[in-house]
Amino acid sequence: MGGAAKVPQMTRTASDLAGLLPSGRVLADPVHLASYAHDEAAGAPFALPAAVVRPQDTSEVAAVVAYCAGRGVPVVARGAGTGLSGGANAVEGCVVVAFDAMDRILEIDPDERLAVVQPGVVNDDLRAACAAKGLWYPPDPASSPWSTIGGNVATNAGGVCCVKYGVTRDYVLGLEAVTGGGEVVRLGRRTAKSSAGYELAGLLVGSEGTLGLVTEITLRLRGERPREHTVVGFFDDLPGAGRAVARVVASGVVPSALELVDRYCLRAVDEWKRMGLSDGGNVLLLARCDAPGAAGEQEAGTVLACFEAAGAAWCERSGDEAEADALFAARRLVYPALERTGRVLSEDVCVPRTLVPEMLGRLERSARERGVRIASLAHAGDGNLHPMLVVPRGDERELARGREVFEGIVEEAIGLGGTVTGEHGVGLLKMRGLARELGPAALDLHRGIKRVWDPAGILNPGKVFAG
Ligand SMILES: Cc1cc2nc3c(=O)[nH]c(=O)nc-3n(C[C@H](O)[C@H](O)[C@H](O)COP(=O)(O)OP(=O)(O)OC[C@H]3O[C@@H](n4cnc5c(N)ncnc54)[C@H](O)[C@@H]3O)c2cc1C
Repeated sequence: MGGAAKVPQMTRTASDLAGLLPSGRVLADPVHLASYAHDEAAGAPFALPAAVVRPQDTSEVAAVVAYCAGRGVPVVARGAGTGLSGGANAVEGCVVVAFDAMDRILEIDPDERLAVVQPGVVNDDLRAACAAKGLWYPPDPASSPWSTIGGNVATNAGGVCCVKYGVTRDYVLGLEAVTGGGEVVRLGRRTAKSSAGYELAGLLVGSEGTLGLVTEITLRLRGERPREHTVVGFFDDLPGAGRAVARVVASGVVPSALELVDRYCLRAVDEWKRMGLSDGGNVLLLARCDAPGAAGEQEAGTVLACFEAAGAAWCERSGDEAEADALFAARRLVYPALERTGRVLSEDVCVPRTLVPEMLGRLERSARERGVRIASLAHAGDGNLHPMLVVPRGDERELARGREVFEGIVEEAIGLGGTVTGEHGVGLLKMRGLARELGPAALDLHRGIKRVWDPAGILNPGKVFAG
């Protein structure tokens, strides 16, 4: 047999890219390929990428995408891989473009109150840099110690203070991105307002790497974070806590946080950190109010009255800010605490805020009827619920059963006028729910928009919607 040995596609893609880029940018050994292959979503399929590329600037990203567009090679963008819906999961033969080396804060302008960053900047690093200049970048996902601004933009991430201060979308002024054809486009603005053209920067927010790779972001900042007053309440059951949330919403007070943590979550944190949280009661509601001066105190008083009127087993205004911070820190530990006990399936439905008690009641009923234990964590003030099921690692049957239970929960949420994902994005796991929520005509619009941005269909194919 003569002729050159057949070079596998995987090796060809990696070696071509290595020839195209400065040295050290391309990773192709099996250990690296495996470590960049998937995000944190339990049960979302993934393949090994053909190559991982860690570009250092926009021109390198554009060169990679142009190469892939010419050969029909799929491209999957990746921030820190903390996503919970499989959005960053590698697909067969793809190139993963990992943004962890594009992690510079390019500018913080205190006068214009804006920041310009590369996509790989970690959320907490930006927040710390802003705080050092007396400024505040509010979007605060519980993954803020690890997740990147690029990933936050691509998923339109929310967080604890978003109930009052909005989600990532509300802070994106402008973007630079590489389209599916490898073209670099600058979108949006640095000005206070603009009516120039379509809002294409906004279109990229929440597009989960299916329309373009975001290479630079201009973000709106706020002045220093106001002082907060904390209210803590324990409730006997989920619907009781839900009624307290509905009362707060109806009172007109907009808290700067309104978080719910149920007994399974509290116990998981206790087992790990020995904080004694679950001794307090079954369901914890944590609220914060930050109106300036005496108004903040008044707001906290109103929230406390709402908790009492909804039948709290115990509630109090916290006089000790360190203790209050510890409670919020514990809330952030829930997901890793549950992960210590098995694989965590996590949902992200969002319902109208007044229907939070109804949805929480349905969650309890669903758990009872299906004989499963659903742990509940929620950005309750937004109506954004994160029911979670822990399944033993390696138990594919339980995983499939869990997915089925969650399909039912998604149906319930959509039936209540809710949405399949409040903040995690659609990725691979919520595609069915999205199709149901949008309907065929709106899905076709999505497909049409995708064709314009990504004519070769190489950007994160098979994610968010089919075809
Ligand atoms: C413990 C824990 C707590 C969490 N808490 C929250 C929370 O409170 N709120 C919340 O919203 N989410 C939360 N998440 C989910 C996750 O952290 C967010 O979705 C986050 O925004 C993902 O950022 P990332 O950098 O990890 O992105 P990745 O997971 O790497 O990617 C997410 C998506 O963005 C795309 N993407 C990444 N970078 C780019 C880019 N530069 N250009 C184009 N597309 C890109 C990817 O292709 C993928 O589709 C949590 C996750 C964990 C593990």
